[in-house]
Amino acid sequence: MIDAFCSWQENWTPQYIPIFKITAMISRDGASKSLWQDSVSPYEPRSNDFENPVFDVAIIGGGITGITLALLLQKAGKKCIVIEAKNLCYGTTGGTTAHLNTLLDNPYTNITRDFGKEGAQIVSRATREAIDLIQGNIQEYAINCEFENTSAYLFSQNEKQTSELKDIYDACNEVGVEARFINSIPIDVPFEQAIEVTRQGKFNPVRYVYALASAFEAAGGVIVQQCRVTNAHEDDIISIETTLENYKSKVLVYATHIPPGINLLHLRCSPYRSYVIAVKLKDENYPDGLIYDMYDPYHYYRTQVVNGEKFLIVGGEDHKTGENQNTNKNFLQLESHIRTYFQVAEISHRWSSQYFEPADGLPYIGKLPGTKDNVYVATGYGGNGITYSQVAALELRDVIIKKESRYNELFRPGRIKPVAGFTGFVKHNTDVVAQFIGKWFATEKLEEVSSLAPDEGKVVKLTTETMALYKDQTGGLHAVNPACTHMKCSVTWNASEKSWDCPCHGSRFSMDGEVLTGPADVDLELIELRSLLEKED
Ligand SMILES: Cc1cc2nc3c(=O)[nH]c(=O)nc-3n(C[C@H](O)[C@H](O)[C@H](O)COP(=O)(O)OP(=O)(O)OC[C@H]3O[C@@H](n4cnc5c(N)ncnc54)[C@H](O)[C@@H]3O)c2cc1C
Repeated sequence: MIDAFCSWQENWTPQYIPIFKITAMISRDGASKSLWQDSVSPYEPRSNDFENPVFDVAIIGGGITGITLALLLQKAGKKCIVIEAKNLCYGTTGGTTAHLNTLLDNPYTNITRDFGKEGAQIVSRATREAIDLIQGNIQEYAINCEFENTSAYLFSQNEKQTSELKDIYDACNEVGVEARFINSIPIDVPFEQAIEVTRQGKFNPVRYVYALASAFEAAGGVIVQQCRVTNAHEDDIISIETTLENYKSKVLVYATHIPPGINLLHLRCSPYRSYVIAVKLKDENYPDGLIYDMYDPYHYYRTQVVNGEKFLIVGGEDHKTGENQNTNKNFLQLESHIRTYFQVAEISHRWSSQYFEPADGLPYIGKLPGTKDNVYVATGYGGNGITYSQVAALELRDVIIKKESRYNELFRPGRIKPVAGFTGFVKHNTDVVAQFIGKWFATEKLEEVSSLAPDEGKVVKLTTETMALYKDQTGGLHAVNPACTHMKCSVTWNASEKSWDCPCHGSRFSMDGEVLTGPADVDLELIELRSLLEKED
């Protein structure tokens, strides 16, 4: 057995599913709580006392991409370090729904059109290998992450969708993803036509990542949590500055979901938010399989057993980050959709999270454009990032170790040509305008201009200054400079996750301006608030 977390697995049989005693919850980049957060305590690395040599590979980000890659490289003899700003699975891996697919959001009709039949066949092979990698790891490390091999069902509800579905069926079969038409689907939703694709998967992503992290450490790898990388000086040996100590490495991988700093990839990846609700049902009509309608945005449904309890997980209501301030409405719409088709006993969890949609429909995995040859990235996964994280891990392992692409360079980020001026990491931070430094604002004046309700956030203007203002439940005001520290777009309030979200590149900040999600790597500037009375004193 590979760690204390999994030690009970020695006694594990399908009949015996122990209930974890959660001592503390992992944190996530939002205020709402995901189902996965309830299933594990924060990961505890073996030791914080380790040698600090020149590492072979430094991997920034402790989500599913970073940890999977770290284990593959460490097993192959590389000395690796994973540096995570918060705790493992703090990012989207802690807010995902963890469907494992070869049937993808970007249909094979589009992939074949844009990358040719050969390209689409590579995608189908790569995603198959991704699911196989997960299954192989689960077997090798005896991980109880409630994995299930299952089918995906895609159904149409009008003429246009039916015509699209037929094309998807054809394209799937042409590239080796076997699809068949079926007469019934596992949920009681009216439909015209439906296809089934077998050999897909579902699991608890956080438990999977924890077990891999433990195996990585057992193989001699190092994990550092609560440590944000703040700068990286590219050279043959890269110097990595962090909020704790500095590290050196021959190779650097940004497994941060989106790379920090300013890079062409930020212009090619659009941030989206997706909403998820987990419910307990009154009856036992928990559907098998992974089920999708064909609306845009589409709904996705599946059942997951967590610690012996069944949950129906439904997601959807996606929109571009920052474009919808009343995000509670998205939850209400999703809830109403669920109640239309299911007998809901109780809503156990609701959360939203972020993904990055690539401009041409395929992820960017490989050398980071505009940097030296020893800096790599994996991003632009869209809504299939759990699957693509495994593709990234396999591809980057081969590129780093063998210097060859497993997937014929199909995912190479360099398919976007770098232009002058777009170089690496955090150089932009120096010219972020600190327009509020040295200023203070009177609380009373802000109340006057904003008339905020408790728990409301708004960008308000006071005389010549604009500021992002949030009033908490107790009436306390929190003010920050609304200019995103990444590229100075103005942030907007996300009511359900209680965060300031940037619509341009998806950076997100807490009510007090702390970075929650990159690419920004510098906090929003906090604005000092004082009462007028205080000033007169
Ligand atoms: C609601 C929702 C549902 C989804 N469902 C599915 C699904 O069913 N199937 C599927 O395949 N995909 C799904 N996805 C997509 C998938 O979950 C993500 O693409 C995937 O989890 C990304 O993993 P990652 O490890 O690359 O990034 P993350 O999990 O976001 O991890 C990145 C980590 O990097 C850390 N980090 C960032 N900056 C720094 C820094 N400067 N220093 C140190 N650490 C840093 C962060 O703290 C974070 O922990 C879904 C996405 C959403 C939003």
